[in-house]
This record gives sequence, C-alpha cells and structure tokens, in this order.
Amino acid sequence: NLQKKLTGVFKNLSGKGKLTEKNIKDAVREVKLSLLEADVHYKVVKELVDRVKEEAVGSKVLESLTPDQEFIRIVRDDLIELMGGKENSKITISHNPGFIMLTGLQGSGKTTTAAKLANFYKKKGKNPLLVAADTYRPAAIDQLVQLGEDIGIPVFTGDRIDALKIVEESKKHAEKLLHDIVIVDTAGRLHIDEKMMEELDKIKKLINPDEILMVVDSMVGQDAVNSAKEFNDKLDLSGFVVSKLDGDSRGGVIISIRYITGKPVKLVGVGEKIDDLEEFYPDRYVGRILGMGDVLSFIEKVEKDIDKKKAEEDAERFMEGKFDLKDFLEQIRQIRKLGPLSNLLEMVPGVPKDQVDVTKGEQELKKFEAIINSMTEKERKNTRILTYSRKQRIAKGSGTTLQDINRLLKSYEQLKKTMKQMKKFKGRKLMNNLPF
Ligand code: GDP
Ligand code: MG
Repeated sequence: NLQKKLTGVFKNLSGKGKLTEKNIKDAVREVKLSLLEADVHYKVVKELVDRVKEEAVGSKVLESLTPDQEFIRIVRDDLIELMGGKENSKITISHNPGFIMLTGLQGSGKTTTAAKLANFYKKKGKNPLLVAADTYRPAAIDQLVQLGEDIGIPVFTGDRIDALKIVEESKKHAEKLLHDIVIVDTAGRLHIDEKMMEELDKIKKLINPDEILMVVDSMVGQDAVNSAKEFNDKLDLSGFVVSKLDGDSRGGVIISIRYITGKPVKLVGVGEKIDDLEEFYPDRYVGRILGMGDVLSFIEKVEKDIDKKKAEEDAERFMEGKFDLKDFLEQIRQIRKLGPLSNLLEMVPGVPKDQVDVTKGEQELKKFEAIINSMTEKERKNTRILTYSRKQRIAKGSGTTLQDINRLLKSYEQLKKTMKQMKKFKGRKLMNNLPF
C-alpha cells in the first residue's frame, strides 16, 4: 500500500551512512541560493559553503535524516557559530558615566536607537542622558529632542552647531547632574565620507566610549558590508545594531558584517516604536536567514527524539544499577531538583534511611563532585580499584578526607543496590513515571 511505499522511499533516503560530495550536491546548491537570497555577501556564502562542505564530507548522517538534511544541520550549526554562538554579546558599561556612541549612515536608525536605548536604561532604573551631536542636518537635533520629550529623558543640545563642543560639554553636564549613562547620537551621511569619519574619530577620542556601535539598516543588503568594514577599520567598533528587522529582509547582513569585521551584533531593531529593540541571540535568527524553516524544524524534531531515546536508555541502565560515579552525581542532582522524591523513596520498602539523606546538603554534593572530578575515568567506572593509596591521592586532589570518599562510595553502592531492589519489588512502574 501507499503508506508502506512511502515509508520505503523514506528509508532509502535516510540514514545513508556518510556524506559524500555527490549526495549533498542538491543541498549545497539550495543553501547557497538561499543565503544569497537572504543578502548574505557572496564571498561569505562561498567561504562558508566551502568550509562546511569540507567539514561535512565523510561525516556520519544522523539516523532518520537524509544526507541533504544532515548537511543543512551542519550549515545551521556553522551559521550560529558565525553569528557568535548561542550566547549573546551584551552591552557593557564600566565607567560612570559610561558613554555609548552611535554611528552609521544616514537613515540607518541611529537617532531612533539612541532613544530606544535610553528608554531601556531608564526602565532599568538608570539615569540616562541623550546627546544630540548630529549637527549635519538641522532637523536631526529636533528629532532627538522630540523623542526625548516623549520618553521623559533629557537631551543635551549645547550650541547646536559644533558637534565636538557639544560632546565635550555634555561630559561635564552629565557629571554635574549625575547621569550614569550618556548616549551620543552622531551625524551620518548617505555615503562614507572622510569628513564624517574624522569627526566621529574625534568624538570617540573625546569621550572614550564604553560602547561604540554602528547601526546598520538590514534592508540595505550587500552594500552594508562595505560600510561596516570601513566604519570598523576607522573607528574600531565594539559592535553593531542591526535595524529594521521587522521588514521583509531576511537579515543576511547579520552574518556578513560579523564575518567581515569580526565584531558582534549586540542589538536588533524590530520596529519604529520605542520598545522595539532587542538583545541579539544568534540561534533565533538562523532559521530566518537560512530560510528552510520546515527542514530546520524537522531536523530539530529528530534531534529531540534522539535525546529522548538516549534519556530512556540512560534510565534503563540506571534501573539496572549500571551507572558510574558521574551518572550517580547527575542523578542526585536530579533527585534534589525534584524534592518530594526523597519522601517517595522513604516509602519504598528496602530503601535504607540514610539513602534518603544523600539528597540533603548542597555542600555534601559539592564535596562529592570534587572527589569525582579528582578521579580518573577508570576509577569512576570501576570503584573496586580504589585502593588506599588511590583514595589518599584523590583526597589530596579534591581537598577532602578519606571519610568523605568512603561516604560517597557507600552512598553510591547503596543507590545501586536500591535501584536493583526497586526493580525486584516491581517498583519499576513507579520509577518509570519519574523523569530520570
Ligand atoms: P538616523 O538617520 O540613522 O538617525 O535614522 P533614524 O533613527 O532617523 O531612522 C530613520 C527611519 O528609520 C525612521 O523613520 C525610523 O522610524 C526608522 N527606523 C529606525 N529603526 C527602525 C526599525 O527597527 N524598524 C523600522 N520599521 N523602522 C525603523
Ligand atoms: Mg539621526
């Protein structure tokens, strides 16, 4: 029947052992196209795809994935790495007052971002000051003053003519009025311009900012990379703000600028409103940039299933009393998180009372952890080889005593025994309902 046929086809496609140049050909082409469509710079696309290809060929295909999907899985992980890994890069302020300087081409979103940031810090209980140092366009200062009024944050405008003077005076002003964060809006141009760069460089030297960010419009596409590079070469930026990600753009510029400049994207603008500013988490954007949302969620599901299977296998092993000291530690942590389980254990026949006590103190756990870390892999797997002299070495290495070690070993043996007993007492059903 059809169902069977389909399953058969799927079987043929998936788990094809290893990735080869040939069986990933289609995926390579699709990934390339998709990244180019997302406005990732062609040089970046080429280098990335070549690198992933080299890395991928010969590697094993995850069970229930096709080679194409496996390739895309590797691309996904590399893209996340390229964007700075799973962690986000935060804005860090270490002076008081600390300066954040915003730079970028005209229309990129500097002034809007300045107000958004000021509002963000105000909400966090800070006392920010906005500085209007864009004297290139007369309307720019009024724009910031208006935004400041809307959110109730003072805007320093000085003489409205001389950007350097304004910035210089804002320093004293901020100190006098005890502002802890000063956000400086600067002038942009439609294109890179020597005069603008000189002015920005002078402002930077004047205020020695904690953060000097360039705001890049995500809708601009390829050109953004070149200007990002020029800004960074001249100003040694601390990071980027990528704006207008609420639009149609897939945001490929995020990858390109990070790749070309090596500097992180720290914030993203996701709308015109004052709250539309977010910290940037690379893994949240990979789906959008790579497109292929369906494939990615399928891959994620497969990965989850594998994790689940492994957890089940671990549980099985655990029930049979087959676990080493590392597993033991992990299990105690789980039990501690559960809390009420200790009561549960108490009710089960054959569980020694002091077994329950194992879950008592975090201090004890720390000791156990130190001891286990001081053991060799062999010792963790087979505690019977722990002779007196080995124990002495471990005690010394972990800053514990022989008694501590013996207590750990006793708990470990008891838990193993308990597990086997519970299995015998048909405690299995009960235990199967527990999350380990
Ligand atoms: P500047 O010349 O660099 O100071 O740019 P502005 O801050 O004046 O912003 C230019 C335009 O882009 C304004 O109309 C803003 O409302 C708009 N803008 C800025 N950031 C965003 C964003 O994240 N999303 C959207 N949709 N519009 C934005
Ligand atoms: Mg502006």
